[in-house]
Amino acid sequence: MARSALIENATLLAEARVGGRRRRDDSFPPIAPGPGRSCGAGPLSVPRLACGAGSATIGGASISDFVPVPRYPATISSRLPQVGTTIFTVMSRLANECGAINLSQGFPDFSAADALFELVARHMRAGHNQYAPMAGAAPLREAIAAKVEELYGARYDPEAEITVTAGATQAIFTAVAAMVHPGDEVIVFEPVYDSYVPSIELNGGTARYARLRFPDYRPDWSEVRALVSPRTRMIIVNTPHNPSGTVWSAADMEELERITRDTGIVVVADEVYEHIVFDRNTRQCRHESAARYPALAERTFIVSSFGKTYHVTGWKIGYVLAPRELTTEFRKAHQYIVFAVNHPVQLALAEFVAQRERYLGLADFYQAKRDFFRAQLEGSRFRLLACAGTYFQLAGFEAIADEPDVAFAERLTREVGVAAIPVSVFYREPVDHKVIRFCFAKSENTLAAAGERLRRV
Ligand code: PMP
Ligand code: GLN
Repeated sequence: MARSALIENATLLAEARVGGRRRRDDSFPPIAPGPGRSCGAGPLSVPRLACGAGSATIGGASISDFVPVPRYPATISSRLPQVGTTIFTVMSRLANECGAINLSQGFPDFSAADALFELVARHMRAGHNQYAPMAGAAPLREAIAAKVEELYGARYDPEAEITVTAGATQAIFTAVAAMVHPGDEVIVFEPVYDSYVPSIELNGGTARYARLRFPDYRPDWSEVRALVSPRTRMIIVNTPHNPSGTVWSAADMEELERITRDTGIVVVADEVYEHIVFDRNTRQCRHESAARYPALAERTFIVSSFGKTYHVTGWKIGYVLAPRELTTEFRKAHQYIVFAVNHPVQLALAEFVAQRERYLGLADFYQAKRDFFRAQLEGSRFRLLACAGTYFQLAGFEAIADEPDVAFAERLTREVGVAAIPVSVFYREPVDHKVIRFCFAKSENTLAAAGERLRRV
């Protein structure tokens, strides 16, 4: 693979910064004021009212002569100055441009069950097309309560403790918005899923970073303990973990329970891959939901996403479980951030959630894909890391190249035709272990075609 291609392409991935961790001066390029200048002409469109010529006038004067509104063109003081476009968008776009096999952004390339589509259509035709109740359609909340009780032995009251959200991203943002005050600290674990830190910073909080140890990506609880301060308001955890594919143990959850006991710290447990835990028979492991730990659950927002469970990431629908007092605060914010979520889809999911075999079979389904994909990479120069859950496989490429993972991922997309995610972007300051992430939520044909290309690298 030619190194020159890298240099030409360096700017493209310079655009991708996750959680605002890659620095660049993102200040808004000044636009020269002048007659007739269009508001949309710059790299970003700016509000029409405030835009120099052509803005609102009162008897020939500008409104800004009377009211101290900000004047544009001006420098926008960004709330997220170090954030660019997410790596998922950047890599999927690049994959499309290059016609590469897209194993970067996490989404299935196969269809969800027809029965689910039929249910949605039925509820649409039955006229359930107006606003759903703010907290979520009652049948769906009841179905979730029954499922969680059966799986984790915890009873959540559908009326007061379960809220349906527009996916996990919104749920996490809303939990942060509801709980974090300006100046509060929130502990996250690196490599950290890309939406957490912007959610914290947009709400005036400060992220504190605990590092998952390389290469097993286990938490170091003494480090977490050292990060706890009187300002710690929240800890965000994620198991099974994206991007590493690790699954937290009962001992991890007990540590979390101990650390937060008798404190005002709340926890957000991102459990969107709860049904994708592998090797349950051989390793005797299971998904350790925070719901299984009463002293932890009493301070925890548990977040799940139907997108992962039913192969419909584009539907953006999920839910939050939290004790009554936390749910009350959550809904105060939720009602103004999104108010309510797609109604016919909720009613369809209510019926689907009641069909246990749909989610109970998911781990075996993805384990077969994991094993198939790993077998494809046998004989390649990639070093496969352990994968205990999620639909992501990490691979070390140090035997292939010594370039930064961002450059390698870009070159792999352009020159080999397989797109992947460089793991360094999930760190505040890029930590480059020469590891990339492949998504194996794909048909066997896709995985075989990718494997064929990757074995040649
Ligand atoms: N958390 C994690 C760990 C994820 O991987 C994802 C998306 N794959 C989300 C949250 C966001 O889920 P949703 O699409 O439901 O917003
Ligand atoms: N969570 C998905 C992933 O990790 C991406 C979701 C998104 O594009 N925001 O690949």
